[in-house]
Amino acid sequence: MKVLKFGGTSVGSAERMKTLPQLIVNGDPKIVVLSAMSGTTNSLAEIAALLHGQKQREAAAAIGSLEEKYVRVVAELYATPEYAKKATSALKAHFEQLRSFPAEHFSVKEERTVLSQGELMSTMLQNLYLNEQGVQSVLLPALSFMRKDQRDEPDMYFIREVLKRELAQHPGCKLFITQGYICRNFLGEVDNLKRGGSDYSASIIGAAVGAEEVQIWTDIDGFHNNDPRVVEKTHSISHLSFDEASELAYFGAKILHPACVIPVQEAKIPLWIKNTMNPTAFGTLISAETRPDSIKAVAAKDNITAIKIKSGRMLLAYGFIRQIFEVFEDYRTPIDMITTSEVAVSLTIDDTSNLAKIVDKLKHFGVVEVDSNMTIICVVGNKISESKGLAARIFNALSDIPIRMISFGGSRHNISLLVDSAYKKPAMEALNEKLF
Ligand code: ADP
Ligand code: ASP
Ligand code: MG
Repeated sequence: MKVLKFGGTSVGSAERMKTLPQLIVNGDPKIVVLSAMSGTTNSLAEIAALLHGQKQREAAAAIGSLEEKYVRVVAELYATPEYAKKATSALKAHFEQLRSFPAEHFSVKEERTVLSQGELMSTMLQNLYLNEQGVQSVLLPALSFMRKDQRDEPDMYFIREVLKRELAQHPGCKLFITQGYICRNFLGEVDNLKRGGSDYSASIIGAAVGAEEVQIWTDIDGFHNNDPRVVEKTHSISHLSFDEASELAYFGAKILHPACVIPVQEAKIPLWIKNTMNPTAFGTLISAETRPDSIKAVAAKDNITAIKIKSGRMLLAYGFIRQIFEVFEDYRTPIDMITTSEVAVSLTIDDTSNLAKIVDKLKHFGVVEVDSNMTIICVVGNKISESKGLAARIFNALSDIPIRMISFGGSRHNISLLVDSAYKKPAMEALNEKLF
């Protein structure tokens, strides 16, 4: 069994949906995970924001224009009135549900239901198209098997068992279509795996069924050595190790959801990145294999906040760092980078929802300074922090950039630097020019 995930652009129009069978219909058993059509989740998030702001009229207008887009897709996608009618009546139910939420008491739970409609619609449309083309496929409802536990982690036991049962109900079926991104939480409510989460869905499903490989099909020919949205002249990397890809995804490479590598790495399943627009290109193979020591790629994570706690009490004290970390734990706020000196500790977070409360608590330990609008730039490669001269090349490349923090040696594969976001582009350009 293989798991293939197609992102928003890969199912972003009727034309793209029509080309999908060429990539997924060949008799090999597979589970195909689809994102929402590109732009849809953004539109749904806007609709939810309008409803939260009690702007019922504006929300209705936004729902109306989204519906028009889908009406056009149906008109272009199906050749027969029979299938167009089936799709139209299914879409009607989704849009009726979207219109059913009153702005007066719109809840977070309802927001998640709104956000789930994109994947539910794209999979329904694609599955009907396959059936119209005479391809036998089965729509697997992700909301029946994809579940998070109390810690917000995938409930692998539940997912494995329910998927096994669902697949067994269709003996001989070679093609299953399911939704990425959407899931249920431990209370059974509709939830999601955060933005870009369809990659994570594919990886979780791959691990749950023991797939021979997981393929992420997107709009670029593999993992590039730098962010193509920020710098020019990037190139595709043919091979990455799980550790390298994991660091890059966590530190901002948008091509993969930050947690996507973890399930396949644990299950030792190769992860491919392929280009839907150029299917014969090699792409990137992410696996347990490590290649010769070298710098592989650069990624960046924005909207980072740096917090410095300065305290004479840190001098020779044990337990100080633990007490600081406990404050972040109490507010369920992950720390990304950390550096220490004799009298101060600096660390970074990207979730600032409890920043004011965290700072209040930290003030008990010393003087607290907060810097927002920072960017973590992460340079990744096999044994990067051990290989002679590599660090020197990185710092030489950045000789004109003020660096706020450096994290070196935390992992063998990563050197992270914190800069003011204003320096992100020049820093990434300098690294691109001098390292590759
Ligand atoms: P999908 O909708 O298929 O999930 P995404 O937009 O989430 O696609 O991810 C693909 C995009 O990620 C690319 O088009 C590219 O702009 C961006 N990207 C950022 N960093 C990288 C990188 N290192 N390599 C390749 N693409 C990257
Ligand atoms: N549709 C979701 C998003 O736009 C999930 C995904 O595309 O991976 O974030
Ligand atoms: Mg994505």
